[in-house]
Amino acid sequence: MSKQILVLPGDGIGPEIMAEAVKVLRLANDKYGLGFELSFDELGGAAYDKYGVPLADETLARARAADAILLGAVGGPKWDAIDPALRPERGLLKIRSQLGLFANLRPAILYPQLADASSLKPEVVAGLDILIVRELTGGIYFGQPRESKVLESGERMAYDTLPYSESEIRRIARVGFDMARVRGKKLCSVDKANVLASSQLWRAVVEEVAKDYPDVELSHMYVDNAAMQLVRAPKQFDVMVTDNMFGDILSDEASMLTGSIGMLPSASLDANNKGMYEPCHGSAPDIAGQGIANPLATILSVSMMLRYSLNQGAAADAIEQAVSKVLDQGLRTGDIHSVGTTKVGTAAMGDAVASALRSL
Ligand code: NAD
Repeated sequence: MSKQILVLPGDGIGPEIMAEAVKVLRLANDKYGLGFELSFDELGGAAYDKYGVPLADETLARARAADAILLGAVGGPKWDAIDPALRPERGLLKIRSQLGLFANLRPAILYPQLADASSLKPEVVAGLDILIVRELTGGIYFGQPRESKVLESGERMAYDTLPYSESEIRRIARVGFDMARVRGKKLCSVDKANVLASSQLWRAVVEEVAKDYPDVELSHMYVDNAAMQLVRAPKQFDVMVTDNMFGDILSDEASMLTGSIGMLPSASLDANNKGMYEPCHGSAPDIAGQGIANPLATILSVSMMLRYSLNQGAAADAIEQAVSKVLDQGLRTGDIHSVGTTKVGTAAMGDAVASALRSL
């Protein structure tokens, strides 16, 4: 049976960038005879508008049945005032947790052609190639109890809970070590073990897992220091492994080292490497509908999907080469544009990647 890919364009710039990613995916499908079947559904605000919930049961069932899922982005001001339980982001959290997508891989690679687009000096970021492995289905974003209430005094208060079990830490630590093993053999585990009980367990379990990986050099770093080191000397890192919230923040920080969040793909994998692939950025409501969003993060997410979930490394390499070729040609969307390069819109960038892929 042919492999099934479920495409969820989402909200804001989601449908615009997804149109370009699907263009490239369809071309790769034909060119390399991959035989994948694509189907489409909604997630987030678009799902709320269509089904009344941010993730419909039938969509979840289709996601379970698919071999891989490609997502644009969700959220936007249109849904800011609705019941918090029905907000677009809830659909995203639910699909991640329901599918057991506990390992979020976020590469931060600086394309040499974009060294000028980084806000850091070229010598600090040139050659940067970091992989952040973020735990995605546990920690403070899911922990119970969580509550917002009004105290008897009339003062409002709210709290969240940051729980981690040993098995949750162990499985994400293994992903971190496995990734480090096939890269630069260096793993930095990021926590806040000087303050948080959950981080103290995190550090202890990571140390235990390290015994199975004597070939990988393990270090630990407090998250505040890691945030600083990422802008001071980011090339010291190879693979970083961390919890859900710290990973959320550090991976956005790392993304800016590379010039634009519009360049960065991500993968969220389950224990069998089935995955959901999406750009690291959000739905960018400020530029939605203008045809100027950078589709490369989503196109590179297609490449990660082919590599990690669909075993099509050659097609994945070809898409990455096509992106690099287009950057060589000097084509840039507004977020990565600089003097001497040619500014193009979303569709023109997608067309250029497709054309480069066709000619490989
Ligand atoms: P954002 O990532 O959407 O945008 C941050 C900035 O980056 C904006 O100025 C935006 O224009 C720019 N940007 C993002 N992607 C771009 C692209 N491809 N090309 C060019 N510029 C790009 O983050 P935000 O503004 O904090 O959030 C907007 C909405 O997205 C919110 O509703 C938020 O909840 C949601 N969000 C969704 C996801 C997701 O779906 N995984 C992730 C983060 C935020």
